[in-house]
Amino acid sequence: MEKGAIDVTKTQVGFFVVPNEFMRGIRNELESMVGKGAGNEFLFRSGFRCGEAVVKMLELNNYKMPDILVSLWSQIGFGRLKVLDMSVEHIEVQCEESTEAMAIGPAKAPVCDFTRGCLAGTISAIVGKDYYAIEKRCVSMGDPYCVFSLSMDERWSPYWR
Ligand SMILES: [Zn+2]
Repeated sequence: MEKGAIDVTKTQVGFFVVPNEFMRGIRNELESMVGKGAGNEFLFRSGFRCGEAVVKMLELNNYKMPDILVSLWSQIGFGRLKVLDMSVEHIEVQCEESTEAMAIGPAKAPVCDFTRGCLAGTISAIVGKDYYAIEKRCVSMGDPYCVFSLSMDERWSPYWR
């Protein structure tokens, strides 16, 4: 780890290794129990809570948002993140080798709902305002990387809180 980088191992947040079959199983069972839309939203919300929890355990005052996101994603193991656009109104990030996409496999729609929730929760906790995220491109759909777009625009999900 480079000097001065954020170290999530110094937090009280517990992490464990999740086999791909577990992620596939959760997604498939949710879809069969509550339907695809509600299942995806459940994964988003779960990820959101995870992102919030991690941020609350870290001392981030001396870091800039892009550095926080890139460092966290690398250490948590969600994939390699690159910030494409960063303003209060709109944030766009690219994720290479998304572990969620690799776990789920080929699909006709984006599948990284836990990851997009974690991004939204992380950013929301840092900024202090709720962000929502959509996934515009996904490795599971054959794209070279996943792309997430985040905004405080409540029209994207008026019901999720
Ligand atoms: Zn994806």
